Amino acid sequence: MGKRMSEPERVSVFWSRVERGASRDDCWLWKGGRSGPYGIVQWREHNGVTMPRHAHTIAFLLARGWRPTRVSKLVVRHLCHQPLCCNPSHLRHGSQADNAADDQAVGREARGETQANAKLDDDMVRFMRWEAARGTTHRELAAIAGVARQTASKAIAKKTWTHIR
Ligand SMILES: [Zn+2]
Repeated sequence: MGKRMSEPERVSVFWSRVERGASRDDCWLWKGGRSGPYGIVQWREHNGVTMPRHAHTIAFLLARGWRPTRVSKLVVRHLCHQPLCCNPSHLRHGSQADNAADDQAVGREARGETQANAKLDDDMVRFMRWEAARGTTHRELAAIAGVARQTASKAIAKKTWTHIR
């Protein structure tokens, strides 16, 4: 994706590389470049730097307006277990532990597990507030962050982590 492309242009170029199925349930397969099992796209970040990104994470970004980053310790998971799929309704954020569990037991729903040593950081708190404002439950966010629900609720309600706007 070239530097000079406008936002709508590069979004449309991105989707032109995805073969969309007729129904919402179909997997939408990435037809561009690959790295291992995943689709790869050169994507310009907000700081102007172009980086190779997994195609499905960009599909997630375009559909949801945010994407998990390394800092947030979250990943975009394929509920359909098709690594090339870019159908936003098949993509969901989760922890790396969720993703590993997915790999080990395909088809088993592994969400809701807590990570023993996980704790909040600034980015996770921002993420939880962002998601809570969009309807994700505190219980679900607590599970993703690996903290007690009350801990998550306090952070989301700005009773703790008050240094984050
Ligand atoms: Zn799919």
